[in-house]
Amino acid sequence: MNTFQDLGLNDDLLQAITDLGFTKPSEVQDKAIPILLESEKDLVALAQTGTGKTAAFGFPMLQKIDIASRTTQGLILSPTRELCLQITNEMKLYGKYCKGLNVVAVYGGASITDQAREIKRGAQIIVATPGRMKDMISRRLVDITKIQYSVLDEADEMLNMGFKEDITDILSHTPEEKNTWLFSATMPREVSIIAKKFMKNPQEITVGNKNESTNNVSHEYYLVNSRDRYQALKRLSDANPDIFSVIFCRTKRDTQKVAENLIEDGYSAGALHGDLSQNQRDMVMKSFRNQQIQMLVATDVAARGIDVDDITHVINYQLPDEPEIYTHRSGRTGRAGKTGISMVIVSKSEVRKIKSIERIINQKFEKKEIPDGADICEVQLMSLANKIHNTEINHEIDKHLTSINELFADTDKDELIKKFFSVEFTRFYNYYNKSKNLNIAEGSFDSGRDGGRDYGGKSDSTRYFINVGSKDGFDWMKLKDFLKEVLELGRDDVFKVEVKDSFSFFNTENALKEKVLAFFTDFKHEGRFVNVEESQNRGGGGGKRRNDRRGGGKREGRSGGRRDDRKGGSGNRSDRRRGEGTSKPRRSDGNSNANRSRRSDSDSRPAVARRSRR
Ligand code: AMP
Repeated sequence: MNTFQDLGLNDDLLQAITDLGFTKPSEVQDKAIPILLESEKDLVALAQTGTGKTAAFGFPMLQKIDIASRTTQGLILSPTRELCLQITNEMKLYGKYCKGLNVVAVYGGASITDQAREIKRGAQIIVATPGRMKDMISRRLVDITKIQYSVLDEADEMLNMGFKEDITDILSHTPEEKNTWLFSATMPREVSIIAKKFMKNPQEITVGNKNESTNNVSHEYYLVNSRDRYQALKRLSDANPDIFSVIFCRTKRDTQKVAENLIEDGYSAGALHGDLSQNQRDMVMKSFRNQQIQMLVATDVAARGIDVDDITHVINYQLPDEPEIYTHRSGRTGRAGKTGISMVIVSKSEVRKIKSIERIINQKFEKKEIPDGADICEVQLMSLANKIHNTEINHEIDKHLTSINELFADTDKDELIKKFFSVEFTRFYNYYNKSKNLNIAEGSFDSGRDGGRDYGGKSDSTRYFINVGSKDGFDWMKLKDFLKEVLELGRDDVFKVEVKDSFSFFNTENALKEKVLAFFTDFKHEGRFVNVEESQNRGGGGGKRRNDRRGGGKREGRSGGRRDDRKGGSGNRSDRRRGEGTSKPRRSDGNSNANRSRRSDSDSRPAVARRSRR
């Protein structure tokens, strides 16, 4: 492999590289830099985030542009504000010895006038998100008609996020004869189309295989009942005391819920999703970067552009809808030459998705078992022992040593150690002692709770009314899938689904009633509140249906009232939060206070593992 000197970079850049401590080029740099320096070619590079691709296009761009000129010559488009700022910072670091260089970040959510002023000073390179860039072009705040190099970074992400039109529009303002360098982690059809449309005979380089995740990442999956998903997450975390992880959920709601539960249970966790303000997101990211937060629970969209190098684990709390997205998720770990683990918690019905992901990433998953209580206790005990072993002595204790020694005069070393460790360990042990096995066998049914039962005419089931029907695109199968999905239920937990025009009915066993009703106190589907209410009958016969209909009428009245309540402010919000809490499996019975105290005794996390990394 080449050294940076071999690649033909100039002294200013080599000096910056030395300052940054980069000793040798990464694979994508080794492949891309010579091509971009030596020729005026378009390039398609398939490379994951974390492989050093910013420098792969950044060094050549910095070397090729005329820094003495104030004209904008390089344009880098990236999908998110975070990534845009990250690229800008990296470019500034790489170009720190390029005197007169001005790299300007252009992104939404910040003052457009300030950004325009920066550009007016003479920005040789602009790093932009497509939306804000388009805005600036239409307001004539930027001139990109003399661009020589354009970069489409994380092209697949930009297209996923719906920026195709904006990109087309932006590029139509740039000269024909410029070079375009496209970087993408995956190569879906849309990216090939863009490459064909905007690029002239691009040279293609691939780091690893197409769509393949980095080899630094190992992939594991854990098969559990869907109702045990959260418990499984906690065990995976407890079995890895030094975990520093991103946990991916599919919806903003689940993201918030999982993060809240983790925090309540004593973990150092935070949520990152689109319902948070930019300020809140910045604060969470800052805490995560500082490793004050050990577990960042995020949606795919919000996690785009996370550039934290030391992430040890990515946990797929739920699998993404599109298997390609998995590549992006797992690419958050194993960065900058480090190794990482991508874990997937799956229920029986999702196992087949693992197979399609394996084909995409061209790597095999290892099926692993959720650790049992004894394993976790051992890991925690040894972690505690190591921590104590490595702890620096606080000599403030010295002056109390005589009294302490007096107290332990009759205690031998082994006994003292046992007592000392028990202070922390016993709570942990009590929590996991007699804990159940969460693993299920691949060939078994998805839920222990419904195995072999006959739903027909069951007296222990509840019938519900729901205000969506065929008008909303549901048939019975789709509605069943939807309910199982949002409520995280097993495959037979929802039954007797009957879809009408604008409303429907379904059943669950009684034990799930509280969870179902609590979940739908504040739930929106495609912009509309979905309400669920207990119906008067168990479904099946014609007469019962009449009752069901009456339930429907009543429902409409209630839902209007509820919407008004919703404007009522924080009191309602806390009620809602409590409602959401009840949707957790562990709070499925009893009143909330009883559950709360039960939770604090047995269900929240023992103190031994509570500390954040710092
Ligand atoms: P990127 O893929 O551009 O987001 O880079 C990921 C991380 O790797 C960033 O923190 C870079 O500063 C770092 N990096 C880039 N190139 C190298 C290199 N050749 N050696 C070590 N670290 C690098």
